[in-house]
Amino acid sequence: MKEIRTRFAPSPTGFLHVGGVRTNFYAWLLARHHGGKFILRIEDTDRERFVPGAIKAILDDLKWLGLDIDEGPSTEELKLCDEGFDGDEGVGGELGPYVQSQRLHLYREVADKLIESGHAYRCDCTAEMLQKEREEQMARRESPGYSGYCRSRNVSADTKHVVRIKIPERESMTIDDAVKGKITWEKLSLRDTVILKSDGYPTYHLAVVVDDHHMKISHVMRGEEWISTTPVHVLLYRALGWEMPIFCHLPSVLGQDGKKLSKRHGATQVGAFKDDGYLPEALLNFLLLIGWNPGDGEEQEIFSREEMIERFNLENINTASGVFAYDKLNWMNGVYIRNLSADQFKERVLPFCKKAGLELEDSKLSEILPHVQERTKLLTEVPEMIEFLADKPLERELDQMLKKDMDAEKAISILELAYNELSELSDFSADNIEAAIKKIPEVLDLKMGPAFIVVRIAVTGKKATPPLFTSIQTLGKDLTLARLRETVEILAKKS
Ligand code: GLU
Repeated sequence: MKEIRTRFAPSPTGFLHVGGVRTNFYAWLLARHHGGKFILRIEDTDRERFVPGAIKAILDDLKWLGLDIDEGPSTEELKLCDEGFDGDEGVGGELGPYVQSQRLHLYREVADKLIESGHAYRCDCTAEMLQKEREEQMARRESPGYSGYCRSRNVSADTKHVVRIKIPERESMTIDDAVKGKITWEKLSLRDTVILKSDGYPTYHLAVVVDDHHMKISHVMRGEEWISTTPVHVLLYRALGWEMPIFCHLPSVLGQDGKKLSKRHGATQVGAFKDDGYLPEALLNFLLLIGWNPGDGEEQEIFSREEMIERFNLENINTASGVFAYDKLNWMNGVYIRNLSADQFKERVLPFCKKAGLELEDSKLSEILPHVQERTKLLTEVPEMIEFLADKPLERELDQMLKKDMDAEKAISILELAYNELSELSDFSADNIEAAIKKIPEVLDLKMGPAFIVVRIAVTGKKATPPLFTSIQTLGKDLTLARLRETVEILAKKS
């Protein structure tokens, strides 16, 4: 069997969209499943839309997701493409360069071949002529498009020109798509499309066909929005006598309202998911199920990386659009977080604490984090849950403390009792703390809940925190007592 070679071919015009990641994750899975190759190619033929830094961001995102590349631009190629590129993560390979702007001679050669064989021709129509033609067509209520004026004009190679492919009129075409099945165009309603621009840069059609051919791509996996371009590609493959890759057009990823997933729905760029505290493995697992199912009505939802690679196949890719349900992703992220070891969880949380300006002793972190882990859905939630451990002035949710059955006076008596009980403890363990605090409602003849809330807000500032007794243990005796006293003073001023 031929080697399975798939590719990710981003245009460096912005950041990675999660829908695009889904597509390329499937391409990666297909290659990994078959022990094939996953290739990165930078499609930078539209230099006007080139965004400096975009390549580095794409590479960082791929690295974060763990989608490793077997062949792709070398570091030199990346630097040539984006002069500000300061990474060293080039991969290289035998079929490079893997950056389209460095392959211009190849496209020119192929275009010349197509002209020679009569499948393409030079066109020197000016922008004004084309505009006039369009206006006339519109006035006649015809669909606008190039008339083919230069088809028989034999434009000289010395004049400024573009190269157009001849699109046969009234021809039907059918392709066998590995995902969508047979796709038929009854009539190619295309006009002679430009394949090489006057500045020597190819358009997408020519570049993608030449590169997929030279890079021996076996499966072209891309979003369904590219289906309409496929007939031009098929014509090019036929004209050049090249074997066609297998096309796999994936259905779109939609928001829950059925509209194409966009910023309106929530985060869409990979970097945003990273910043929002998602685990890459959870995001990938979630993306897997947006367009693929394990088959046979199987209900399994959590797949390890190895399982994903082993189970993935083209047959079970859904033909209908997938819906990006953020609540399901959050649930899945929580599952993945709970499955981390305590050390892994700490390691994942640390960058978020750092970003929040929270620096805690390692021993404190190790003590509190296991109690936080089980209730975390997003890593970004963690700093707020544990920031009370920092030896810093505390802001307290006093409005949550003083409610209809709890006035400042009553709260003060709770806190004073807590102070006395806790200061007695020589072993400041969660168990001893629990026994001490549980005496309070008994002694003062109060309900347990409201009494605990007063203590909790006094020492942590918040109504919702990790379990109270562990929180107090981790905070330590001195800080706990100091905070109790401070709260009494604040409340005294209020009463
Ligand atoms: N360069 C195209 C893009 O940015 C890739 C299309 C393809 O995969 O053929 O989406």
